[in-house]
Amino acid sequence: MIRTSKHTTKYLTAKKKDLLNQMFIVCGYYLQKTIDLMWDKKVPTGKYLSCKQIDWMDDLGGRYKGLVYNQASEIVRGTRNRKGKKGKPKIENFTINFTIAQVSVELSKTNEFDKWIKLRLPFVREGYKCERIEILIPIKEHKQSLKFKDWKRATGVKISKNFVIFTYEKETPEKKDTGDIVGIDMGYKKLLATSEGDVVGSEMEQVYEKISRKKQGSKGFKRALIERDNKTNYFINRDLCLDSTKELIIENLTGLKQGEKGKKRKIRKSFMNKLQRWSYAKCVKKLEMLCEENRVLLTRVDPAFTSQRCSVCGFADKKSRHGERFLCVDCGKLLDADYNAAVNLSHMGVYNPHA
Ligand SMILES: [Zn+2]
Repeated sequence: MIRTSKHTTKYLTAKKKDLLNQMFIVCGYYLQKTIDLMWDKKVPTGKYLSCKQIDWMDDLGGRYKGLVYNQASEIVRGTRNRKGKKGKPKIENFTINFTIAQVSVELSKTNEFDKWIKLRLPFVREGYKCERIEILIPIKEHKQSLKFKDWKRATGVKISKNFVIFTYEKETPEKKDTGDIVGIDMGYKKLLATSEGDVVGSEMEQVYEKISRKKQGSKGFKRALIERDNKTNYFINRDLCLDSTKELIIENLTGLKQGEKGKKRKIRKSFMNKLQRWSYAKCVKKLEMLCEENRVLLTRVDPAFTSQRCSVCGFADKKSRHGERFLCVDCGKLLDADYNAAVNLSHMGVYNPHA
């Protein structure tokens, strides 16, 4: 399994920050230029080109040329492979994937910082012919990054103007063979409701409201989406404990957004709008990662009737569901609707005769 940790570059001194910014200006200029050339098919993507062949980046040294060329290839290919409208990529904020040729990571000997990234810039020191300027970026560990202490760290480092990203790798451990089977209902008002009666992220509604107040596509809108994703991760990290869980069962809702072919699924427009605010995909991604780390099996099941079936007597009728409440028309049991759905999901685990 592969994970990343993000660290701020704000501890850089003003002088070093300035050098880093200059590097981004130069690389950004050539990155866009290369993208433009590739987009007009004047330059191929994903080839091995020699330093001499990359003659449109004359100010840069060979290694930086290769770096910018590879990055442009990745962006152009990514855009071409994307579905839907494809405009020429315009880079604004970008990260550069530095390799061992430009970066190395050193442990700090002082208490103030934990690590230093030594980054070789494309600029030559004044008065020298080929001695490149190097800067040291101070890095502090944080709660998330400390989780990867025993993992293998990739030698490459992603760097943008404001942050640094490390990549870690570890073999995926085997799944647990003992523990509880827990169903999880993912929803709009509550991020997660578990079959054990726990609720995760009931505070999300404020975040969604913020998104709906912003103009779609605006900077504020994008910021609000980032906040939503961060909070999704934050709440799940904080409130979902998988210590005694061996299997997690969730609904498979992929295809809901597009509307499934053959089935006439009428989704009200207002609900569609809400659905776009709610990020099912982000939520699933987070659960996937947590399950992998905690040796928990993640099972997706068809959500048919999970919200209409009574988790106590098993009778399914859509008349039992009243918004957030579930009142069984057969046995009369009153339950929280999301909790009821989660318990139904927990009954749909992988069949295990020894359980
Ligand atoms: Zn019932």
